[in-house]
Amino acid sequence: MVSIKTARELSKMKDACRISAEALRVAGEAVKPGVTTLEIDTIVRQYIEKQGATPSFLGYGGFPASACISVNNVVIHGIPSKNTVLKEGDIVSVDVGAYYRGFHGDNAYTFPCGKISAQAQSLLDATKESLFEGIKQARPGNRVGDIGSAVQKYVEARSYSVVRDFVGHGVGAKLHEDPSIPNYGTPGRGIRLLPGMTIAIEPMVNQGAYQVKVLGDEWTTVTLDGKLSAHFEHTVAITPDGPRIMTLCD
Ligand code: MG
Repeated sequence: MVSIKTARELSKMKDACRISAEALRVAGEAVKPGVTTLEIDTIVRQYIEKQGATPSFLGYGGFPASACISVNNVVIHGIPSKNTVLKEGDIVSVDVGAYYRGFHGDNAYTFPCGKISAQAQSLLDATKESLFEGIKQARPGNRVGDIGSAVQKYVEARSYSVVRDFVGHGVGAKLHEDPSIPNYGTPGRGIRLLPGMTIAIEPMVNQGAYQVKVLGDEWTTVTLDGKLSAHFEHTVAITPDGPRIMTLCD
């Protein structure tokens, strides 16, 4: 069921989203050659807890950490590890959520580690821009397919591909709510968007083919062809005036 939030609920949810956004910013500042993904996870967890919030992902479905940290060909759900040491040229996707006073915020960003290749930078730019193409469509009267098709069109025009097996989602009192928000689709199709809906739009964009596989740890999701993947996400509220990005820092 799709939940509609009142203005009062949206204003409470904004606090959870701001904490999520700031946790992501703190994570990004920690991305440097020689740092382990476990160290970044610890920084994220400590930051969120210091705000009096709870890391949304910790223990969710059994996930063992506060942030998903996915390096290079890892698409999503990378498990932070002391054995994963970042090196110059890596691209590092961090996905983090915070739960605060009854609501979740959810956001992701792919950070460059030091100097990255022009090809990697171009993938990051296209993925980030495709998120904003999707956000522009998150307005009352539009449908879920308008978001997905805007993302897909932007990505495929640049010869990249959008992941099919994982999609965005409603977010609010629960981390994952209805409806699903695919990053592909047909304009004018799918559930109608209404004021008070809050959704996580999160394009996962591959440099090569869209196929992915989940490794034996049942979390780590990698590109099937071993090429790079990027991931950007915002929590967005649909308001009568159009989309409002909730996961922004102060
Ligand atoms: Mg999400």
